[in-house]
Amino acid sequence: MRILVVEDEHRIANAIKKGLEQEKYAVDVAYTGETGWDLASSEEYDAIILDLMLPGIDGLTICRNLRQAGKQIPILILTAKDQTGDKVEGLNSGADDYLVKPFAFEELLARIRALVRRPKNTLNPVLKVAELELNTSTYEVKMGEKQISLSNKEFSLTEYLMRNAGKVLTKDQIISHVWNYDADVLPNTVEVYVKALRRKIGQNLIKTVRGFGYKMHV
Ligand code: CA
Repeated sequence: MRILVVEDEHRIANAIKKGLEQEKYAVDVAYTGETGWDLASSEEYDAIILDLMLPGIDGLTICRNLRQAGKQIPILILTAKDQTGDKVEGLNSGADDYLVKPFAFEELLARIRALVRRPKNTLNPVLKVAELELNTSTYEVKMGEKQISLSNKEFSLTEYLMRNAGKVLTKDQIISHVWNYDADVLPNTVEVYVKALRRKIGQNLIKTVRGFGYKMHV
């Protein structure tokens, strides 16, 4: 899962990035409204954390423009305590949730988890495809009764494939949702990761769709 953080306070933005990376998310940070808008409108994200007061384009405008452009990405707005009116306006502009600063990281994480699993999945943190089980909250992965140990990227790749089980995913789509903007990833890299993953979860679950990409069986 890949997340965009748009926040001009470097300390907050970097703390969020570091925390989310520890939770196995791929994270891009934009410190200005312009960069935030450029990334949000051109890249694929699973959620956006959006501060309201930004240099350049403000958060409400970004939010409104994304929705007008038909982007359905979950948006979590960050507001300061004295901007209570903005939070209502934020939700009216198409944001999905808001959080008042200062906040505990755990709270942010809980909101993000709830947003990225909406609307397809329920609040159950466990994803299941055939015998494969992945717990998005404890990071446990099991194949039947057997515990599987995955690296961070293998975990993210597995989660993305499981959330889209039954769909054919191109290598570019996979790269967009599993790696961040700065990562130097070639389609070849995806093949290497899929190969490693198959060694751990078996050869049958991830199907190669020649000329397109991969599909996880339902
Ligand atoms: Ca700000």
